[in-house]
Amino acid sequence: MKCRRCRQRAVIDLKSHNTAFCADCFFVFVERQVRRAIKEHQMCSRRDRILVCVSGGKDSLALWDLLLRLGYRAEGLYIDLGIEDYSRRSREKVEAFVQGRGLELRVVSLEEEGFPIPELARRNRRAECSVCGTVKRHYFNRVAAEGGYDVVATGHNLDDEAGRLLGNLLHWQWEYLSKQSPVLPGVGEALVKKVEPLCRLTERETAAYALLRGIDYQLEECPMSRGATSLKYKEVLNLLEDWMPGTKAAFYQGFLKNSEIFRRETDQAPLESPSSFRCSQCGQPSLAEICNFCRLTNPT
Ligand code: SF4
Ligand SMILES: [Zn+2]
Ligand SMILES: [Zn+2]
Repeated sequence: MKCRRCRQRAVIDLKSHNTAFCADCFFVFVERQVRRAIKEHQMCSRRDRILVCVSGGKDSLALWDLLLRLGYRAEGLYIDLGIEDYSRRSREKVEAFVQGRGLELRVVSLEEEGFPIPELARRNRRAECSVCGTVKRHYFNRVAAEGGYDVVATGHNLDDEAGRLLGNLLHWQWEYLSKQSPVLPGVGEALVKKVEPLCRLTERETAAYALLRGIDYQLEECPMSRGATSLKYKEVLNLLEDWMPGTKAAFYQGFLKNSEIFRRETDQAPLESPSSFRCSQCGQPSLAEICNFCRLTNPT
């Protein structure tokens, strides 16, 4: 198998693009996909201060590496979820990545905040992933807003977004469909813009990128993810992808082209003025008087 660009020996074949690349040409391909996503969706500029949310996994560390290589001002945020040894090992991977490169990293420890995810889930009699999502969203925005960042970037890839889309469509979740986008605009200084620059790359591609770049990432999955429905949707899409390469990208890109339909149907009022929509306890943007995060962490 030869590289499509330079005819050297290829190290990865990409059936969905009907091509194969050597390591150097694969890096060119990956950087091009990220540049294209950023440009197409006007995610960020080189003047912006970007806060990259890193978990220690392949996607978020590859994202941080890519943004820096492409000349963006990117700093990291690691949220230590307090999940058994998994969180400790993930944090070690992030710290090793930072040390080798002399980068700026912010850390929030939920153990120190008084509500590690397993305990918070037990207290609220809720599934770990549902409380985890709320807590992470809260800190992503709060740390970014307080630190004066312009953009929050997460490592969601094409598999994540296509899987989420499939789930939302299967259950006709109109509200979620109307909000699903690789860019969520910011509002004022309180709600920081959120972007997903890896949305054109599959999980296999980000894993190959991290591996070929020598990024040492957390291979273990979070123990709470066992049996998660989102993984089932990804499995189904992988079966379709094996059968018809390119299906995943066509499915998600087609949705992005037509996503206006879902916005029209739900007819949502945008959060125009966040100063009048603040949680009375933590001051973060919220349509309710007390936000979901405060309801979870300070139950009355
Ligand atoms: S699997 Fe669930 S608990 Fe684990 S990091 Fe993801 S959302 Fe959080
Ligand atoms: Zn090549
Ligand atoms: Zn609050």
